[in-house]
Amino acid sequence: MPSIFSRIVAGEIPAIKVYEDATTLAFLDINPASPGHTLVISKAEYPDLFNIPLETLVAVHTTVQKVAITINDLLEPDGMNIVQNNGPASGQTVFHYHVHIIPRWVGDGVMLPWKPGPTDMQTLQALGTQIRSALHQPS
Ligand code: 5GP
Repeated sequence: MPSIFSRIVAGEIPAIKVYEDATTLAFLDINPASPGHTLVISKAEYPDLFNIPLETLVAVHTTVQKVAITINDLLEPDGMNIVQNNGPASGQTVFHYHVHIIPRWVGDGVMLPWKPGPTDMQTLQALGTQIRSALHQPS
Protein backbone atom coordinates (compact mmCIF):
# COMPACT_ATOMS: atom_id res chain seq x y z
CA MET A 1 0.00 0.00 0.00
CA PRO A 2 1.45 3.43 -0.88
CA SER A 3 2.40 5.67 2.04
CA ILE A 4 0.32 8.73 2.89
CA PHE A 5 3.12 10.83 1.37
CA SER A 6 2.98 8.86 -1.90
CA ARG A 7 -0.72 9.67 -1.96
CA ILE A 8 0.17 13.37 -1.58
CA VAL A 9 2.67 13.03 -4.45
CA ALA A 10 -0.05 11.37 -6.56
CA GLY A 11 -2.48 14.21 -5.76
CA GLU A 12 -4.93 11.87 -4.01
CA ILE A 13 -4.58 13.75 -0.69
CA PRO A 14 -4.31 17.54 -0.46
CA ALA A 15 -1.24 19.24 1.00
CA ILE A 16 0.06 22.79 1.24
CA LYS A 17 2.96 22.40 -1.17
CA VAL A 18 5.74 24.97 -1.09
CA TYR A 19 8.37 23.52 -3.45
CA GLU A 20 8.56 20.77 -6.04
CA ASP A 21 11.10 19.45 -8.53
CA ALA A 22 11.52 16.19 -10.43
CA THR A 23 12.74 14.22 -7.40
CA THR A 24 11.52 16.01 -4.28
CA LEU A 25 8.50 17.71 -2.75
CA ALA A 26 8.19 20.06 0.24
CA PHE A 27 4.90 20.74 2.03
CA LEU A 28 3.69 22.07 5.37
CA ASP A 29 3.31 19.55 8.20
CA ILE A 30 -0.36 19.03 9.07
CA ASN A 31 0.43 19.07 12.83
CA PRO A 32 3.22 21.65 13.05
CA ALA A 33 5.58 21.85 16.00
CA SER A 34 5.99 25.55 15.17
CA PRO A 35 4.86 28.00 12.45
CA GLY A 36 6.53 27.05 9.15
CA HIS A 37 7.18 23.39 10.09
CA THR A 38 7.82 21.85 6.68
CA LEU A 39 8.46 18.31 5.45
CA VAL A 40 10.77 17.53 2.53
CA ILE A 41 10.28 14.11 0.94
CA SER A 42 11.59 12.10 -1.97
CA LYS A 43 8.79 11.63 -4.48
CA ALA A 44 9.75 7.98 -4.81
CA GLU A 45 8.99 5.98 -1.67
CA TYR A 46 11.90 4.70 0.43
CA PRO A 47 11.24 3.81 4.06
CA ASP A 48 14.24 5.43 5.72
CA LEU A 49 17.85 6.64 5.57
CA PHE A 50 19.18 3.09 5.31
CA ASN A 51 17.30 2.38 2.09
CA ILE A 52 17.29 5.61 0.08
CA PRO A 53 19.69 5.78 -2.90
CA LEU A 54 22.52 8.28 -2.44
CA GLU A 55 21.53 10.40 -5.45
CA THR A 56 17.98 10.77 -4.11
CA LEU A 57 19.26 11.52 -0.62
CA VAL A 58 21.41 14.33 -2.01
CA ALA A 59 18.41 15.71 -3.92
CA VAL A 60 16.26 15.70 -0.77
CA HIS A 61 18.91 17.49 1.29
CA THR A 62 19.53 20.01 -1.50
CA THR A 63 15.83 20.85 -1.26
CA VAL A 64 16.05 20.95 2.56
CA GLN A 65 18.74 23.63 2.36
CA LYS A 66 16.88 25.64 -0.29
CA VAL A 67 13.56 25.61 1.61
CA ALA A 68 15.21 26.15 5.02
CA ILE A 69 17.07 29.25 3.77
CA THR A 70 13.83 30.66 2.33
CA ILE A 71 11.82 30.02 5.51
CA ASN A 72 14.65 31.46 7.58
CA ASP A 73 14.71 34.66 5.50
CA LEU A 74 10.91 34.94 5.55
CA LEU A 75 9.94 34.04 9.13
CA GLU A 76 13.23 35.06 10.78
CA PRO A 77 13.20 32.42 13.53
CA ASP A 78 15.97 32.38 16.14
CA GLY A 79 17.06 28.94 14.93
CA MET A 80 15.91 25.77 13.20
CA ASN A 81 15.89 22.07 13.94
CA ILE A 82 16.44 19.80 10.93
CA VAL A 83 15.12 16.43 12.08
CA GLN A 84 14.96 13.03 10.43
CA ASN A 85 13.57 10.00 12.30
CA ASN A 86 14.43 6.38 11.45
CA GLY A 87 12.32 3.59 12.91
CA PRO A 88 9.42 3.55 15.37
CA ALA A 89 11.67 3.88 18.44
CA SER A 90 12.95 7.20 17.07
CA GLY A 91 9.45 8.58 16.59
CA GLN A 92 9.10 7.80 12.89
CA THR A 93 5.42 7.37 12.04
CA VAL A 94 5.44 7.70 8.24
CA PHE A 95 7.77 5.18 6.62
CA HIS A 96 8.58 7.28 3.57
CA TYR A 97 11.87 9.18 3.78
CA HIS A 98 11.32 12.75 4.95
CA VAL A 99 13.13 15.55 6.72
CA HIS A 100 11.49 18.01 9.12
CA ILE A 101 12.38 21.70 8.94
CA ILE A 102 11.26 23.16 12.29
CA PRO A 103 11.73 26.90 12.81
CA ARG A 104 12.53 27.72 16.44
CA TRP A 105 12.08 30.80 18.57
CA VAL A 106 13.66 31.42 21.96
CA GLY A 107 11.21 30.27 24.64
CA ASP A 108 8.89 28.52 22.15
CA GLY A 109 8.69 25.44 24.40
CA VAL A 110 9.29 23.01 21.53
CA MET A 111 11.12 20.06 23.09
CA LEU A 112 14.39 18.53 21.96
CA PRO A 113 13.85 14.85 21.13
CA TRP A 114 16.48 13.81 23.66
CA LYS A 115 17.65 14.64 27.17
CA PRO A 116 21.44 14.98 27.23
CA GLY A 117 22.95 12.52 29.72
CA PRO A 118 26.38 11.80 31.20
CA THR A 119 28.77 9.07 30.03
CA ASP A 120 32.47 8.33 30.56
CA MET A 121 35.57 8.44 28.34
CA GLN A 122 36.00 4.64 28.46
CA THR A 123 32.53 4.09 27.00
CA LEU A 124 33.06 6.80 24.36
CA GLN A 125 36.48 5.33 23.42
CA ALA A 126 35.04 1.80 23.09
CA LEU A 127 32.16 2.99 20.90
CA GLY A 128 34.52 5.18 18.84
CA THR A 129 36.84 2.21 18.22
CA GLN A 130 33.93 -0.05 17.26
CA ILE A 131 32.40 2.44 14.79
CA ARG A 132 35.77 3.53 13.29
CA SER A 133 36.73 -0.08 12.71
CA ALA A 134 33.39 -0.86 11.01
CA LEU A 135 34.04 2.21 8.81
CA HIS A 136 37.66 1.07 8.21
CA GLN A 137 39.00 4.36 9.58
CA PRO A 138 42.45 4.64 11.20
CA SER A 139 42.48 5.37 14.94
P1 5GP B 1 7.67 11.31 11.56
O1 5GP B 1 7.10 11.15 12.94
O2 5GP B 1 7.44 10.07 10.72
O3 5GP B 1 9.10 11.75 11.56
O4 5GP B 1 6.88 12.51 10.91
C1 5GP B 1 5.69 12.38 10.21
C2 5GP B 1 5.08 13.75 10.10
O5 5GP B 1 4.12 13.73 9.06
C3 5GP B 1 4.36 14.23 11.36
O6 5GP B 1 4.95 15.45 11.82
C4 5GP B 1 2.92 14.42 10.92
O7 5GP B 1 2.30 15.55 11.49
C5 5GP B 1 3.05 14.57 9.41
N1 5GP B 1 1.90 14.08 8.64
C6 5GP B 1 1.30 12.87 8.79
N2 5GP B 1 0.29 12.75 7.90
C7 5GP B 1 0.26 13.91 7.18
C8 5GP B 1 -0.56 14.37 6.11
O8 5GP B 1 -1.48 13.71 5.64
N3 5GP B 1 -0.29 15.61 5.63
C9 5GP B 1 0.72 16.39 6.11
N4 5GP B 1 0.90 17.57 5.56
N5 5GP B 1 1.52 15.97 7.12
C10 5GP B 1 1.30 14.75 7.66
